Amino acid sequence: MAAQIIDGKKIAEQVRAEIKVEVDELKQKGLEPGLAVVLVGDNPASQIYVNNKHKACGELGIYSEVHRLPGDTPQEELLGLIDKLNYDKKIHGILVQLPLPEQIDEKAIINAINPAKDVDGFGPANVGNLVIGDDCFFPCTPHGILVMLDKIGVDPKGKRAVVVGRSNIVGKPVAMMLLHRHATVTMCHTRTQDLAWECRNADILVVAAGRPRVITGDMIKEGAVVIDVGVNRLADGKVVGDVDFASASEKASWITPVPGGVGPMTITMLMKNTVEAAKRQWSRGS
Ligand code: NAP
Repeated sequence: MAAQIIDGKKIAEQVRAEIKVEVDELKQKGLEPGLAVVLVGDNPASQIYVNNKHKACGELGIYSEVHRLPGDTPQEELLGLIDKLNYDKKIHGILVQLPLPEQIDEKAIINAINPAKDVDGFGPANVGNLVIGDDCFFPCTPHGILVMLDKIGVDPKGKRAVVVGRSNIVGKPVAMMLLHRHATVTMCHTRTQDLAWECRNADILVVAAGRPRVITGDMIKEGAVVIDVGVNRLADGKVVGDVDFASASEKASWITPVPGGVGPMTITMLMKNTVEAAKRQWSRGS
């Protein structure tokens, strides 16, 4: 059976169109959602991500400002900027582009962001609320994955979900979100004894390992939904996922391509979180 493709680009466009309508309505009421993106240093990949976020804001009518700081910026100076943004009424969401240069303690920076403006959802308050199932900002990539499942009509309830990778930004939060949606969740990592066996049990398989084509068709259950988060650039310049697309798509019922799957959803969900943050802050009068 050839898998159906989960077209992340198309789904992202639909979600962005919905967000644009909402932003227009909010602006009519006098609320303009605002996002501040902070970039320290000149990491080329980070520069592309930051430019894409700024561009997406512009397309949706969200106010955005980019703060570009030199690579040798001291931690205190960055903390000072975060503090200023925490109190800035125009700004409802703050995103500090990771990774940060080594003189800066990432944790200290993430912890300094006002949880009400933590639209990346990486801060301890948000993570804690995610775990206990309270109001929070879902981290953008996992959020995008859940929206994709909803859009293709796959309900995680009662399904066996296997997540490969346990990072704080993808693996752990997506596992938690699938659990809240009543999936039976297994998490795998480098010490998992029989990865293939675990994966073969999955009705929904989410792979975020950062290893090119580590999951092959023989590790996939017939009819599984396969979400490939990985973005790996090979020596020849080609970008591939963590899943071997050709063999996996012979077994899966649905599969995300790389590129064009999870990737386009991530920035879209950042836009959604920014709008949500603006609405929450506005309703509290803050
Ligand atoms: P990460 O922090 O590097 O973590 C990778 C995880 O995968 C770790 O938990 C690691 O296990 C596990 N792992 C690695 N190799 C494995 C193997 N052979 N078998 C089983 N588990 C294995 O990764 P990340 O930040 O979550 O990113 C993962 C991938 O997603 C990367 O390619 C990244 O570029 C991509 N990504 C894409 C987006 C997007 O928007 N499309 C967003 C974020 C990330 P241990 O914990 O045991 O080391």
